[in-house]
Amino acid sequence: MGLRVTVALHAGFCFGVKRAVKIAFDAAGDGPEEPIYTLGPLIHNPQVVKKLEEMGIKPVDSLDMLKEGRLIIRSHGVPPQVLEDARKRGIKVTDATCPFVKKAQQKVAELVDEGFYVFIVGDKLHPEVQALLGYGKGRAFLLDDLDQGMSFPKVGIVCQTTQSRENLTRGIMKVLRVIGGKLEELRIHNTICESTLIRQKECMALAQASDVVIVVGGKNSANTTRLAEISRAILEDTYHIEGAEELDPQWFRGKCRVGVTAGASTPDWIIGEVVERIKLIRR
Ligand code: SF4
Repeated sequence: MGLRVTVALHAGFCFGVKRAVKIAFDAAGDGPEEPIYTLGPLIHNPQVVKKLEEMGIKPVDSLDMLKEGRLIIRSHGVPPQVLEDARKRGIKVTDATCPFVKKAQQKVAELVDEGFYVFIVGDKLHPEVQALLGYGKGRAFLLDDLDQGMSFPKVGIVCQTTQSRENLTRGIMKVLRVIGGKLEELRIHNTICESTLIRQKECMALAQASDVVIVVGGKNSANTTRLAEISRAILEDTYHIEGAEELDPQWFRGKCRVGVTAGASTPDWIIGEVVERIKLIRR
């Protein structure tokens, strides 16, 4: 007998990723007139990045590798120093930073301008978090680095846009527990984006209503990993895959209801392939 598959309504590309991909495809046009680069892959999806490369948009690891051309800033954004550096090198910039990420960057900058020290709730190595730290002009830190020895009168909390509410709440509690007694003022900005919240809510409902959940998206994608964590907290039979070839028929033995969701950088056609492959599996 076949499996019953339910796909989350908002699985796949979010507003910010759609926008960045469109900006990149538009820039490539019928063949770019100048070399076009992205600092790191445009989105956390190897298939899309390969397609863009074929169209002439190349990911590079560092600005040092560039002498001319155009740089597309990814939806995650970059520290202001990188924009400055690119301009000094005469590299043209097309900024595809997601407006929600921009808002988080502005919150960090505003807090610092008002004399606050800022703690970022986020994944240490994620480029969005590195960019947020850059907007802190030396007064922003990762929440992971907060310790008893620190003492700041005014503290702000800003969140990576793809974090969960639970992580933000844990972050607030940590600040209060570790340095709360010494604080004069605490200002909290919930900068988790609407797309992330909707996906996370849907993911919870999907996990509650399924026997198996498949989360599709890059293993290095923060928001996809978070969806897998959220689902796994409710349903142990949760699997994070990058493509249909990773599906293992054993996962579905004796199961009936399969939920499928996908991260914000997973294209529809990859989700479609996964769904089609699951439908062929006999339980
Ligand atoms: S997940 Fe949210 S903040 Fe990140 S690119 Fe998508 S819409 Fe923008």
